[in-house]
Amino acid sequence: MELTTTPDRAALELASVARDAAGCTACELSATRTQVVPGEGSPAAALVFVGEAPGAQEDRVGRPFVGASGRLLDDLLASIGLLRKEVYILNTVKCRPPENRNPQKSETTACAPFLTRQIQALRPRVIATLGRHALAVFAPSAKIAEVHGRPYTQTVGSQHADAVLFPLYHPAAALHNGSLRPTLERDMVALRAYLSASAREGAGEATLREVDSVPTRPRTKRTGEAE
Ligand code: URA
Repeated sequence: MELTTTPDRAALELASVARDAAGCTACELSATRTQVVPGEGSPAAALVFVGEAPGAQEDRVGRPFVGASGRLLDDLLASIGLLRKEVYILNTVKCRPPENRNPQKSETTACAPFLTRQIQALRPRVIATLGRHALAVFAPSAKIAEVHGRPYTQTVGSQHADAVLFPLYHPAAALHNGSLRPTLERDMVALRAYLSASAREGAGEATLREVDSVPTRPRTKRTGEAE
């Protein structure tokens, strides 16, 4: 039996951002990209990860975190009982910087309206930034070594739907410097504990998984199909 779905407003707005980003020429990254990498995940996610910028594989495939960093991110998610499809994964810029250089301030500024629209559509409870460049977009004066692994007290602001910021090291940093890996693993456990506690506060006794599994796209049967 075939089912059709009705995307909810978040999914529609996320699709609209992806379309707009695909036609964007606001910064130089548009000239060298293969394709934009708008992000992916559950439009109902309570937890959004924001990485830095697509790399070579992401540029080729059009999806975020599909290379070595992505495999580590998947493992870290699994270690706290989450799947990629239960969260949402974004980047500060939607196009690959040449030679995988860090995105420049002018590029994150040019791309900021897309990120803001995505976060306003998602309305997550928590934004987990991955690495210092993503952190800088939300909290320019924060130093990752001082603030990682716990909620960052400075409010992220209404343009980011009042989500709580939870800074993490970037998975690539942990791949590069093995001594950061246990730190990142511990920080993920702290993130999970924070999410579970805030889910209980915000939704009675609902667990994170229950909160996250609220269907985003009501399934409707085709006319004439049996119940
Ligand atoms: N690193 C990032 O910050 N984002 C990706 O999508 C991949 C690697």
